[in-house]
Amino acid sequence: MARKHNTPKHLQKSFKDSLLTTEPNGIPINRENWSEKSQGSWTWIEVYTDKSYRCRYCREKAVFTAKEQHYAYEVKKRYIDQTRVLCPACFYIMHAKRDAIQAIEKRWRAEKSQLQNDVAFLRDWHEKLQDFQRYTHKWNNMITSLQKRIERLEAKEELNND
Ligand SMILES: [Zn+2]
Repeated sequence: MARKHNTPKHLQKSFKDSLLTTEPNGIPINRENWSEKSQGSWTWIEVYTDKSYRCRYCREKAVFTAKEQHYAYEVKKRYIDQTRVLCPACFYIMHAKRDAIQAIEKRWRAEKSQLQNDVAFLRDWHEKLQDFQRYTHKWNNMITSLQKRIERLEAKEELNND
């Protein structure tokens, strides 16, 4: 018997697709299935209903279905006050971009002494962080630090070329 984490990719996708179907009468909430943090929230709703929203990145309309909410809050135990801000396509892209940044950070931790003077590496990291920020709208101080570092290295290079 296949274990849950061994579910083939195509089956995982059809499961996710099944969450996209609408539930006209909503799905009753079972607060006992919420995380402890959610149970401490002020949110007082009885039923999950399909919620439409506009993607913060591409401005397309999307729906956070009742089924998806049930899955997010009662199975994945997400915090009940957390909602969707990106459409599924942008959410997917955002995750891929985050993974790419995490790979850079891992490399940085392993090879910091060489990479701290590698302008191409630093510039790539800086660009990826800036791009990523357009999805999250959260300021990352690393962007400023990298900018300063790159400017210093470039100034040094110019001096050496004179
Ligand atoms: Zn979008």
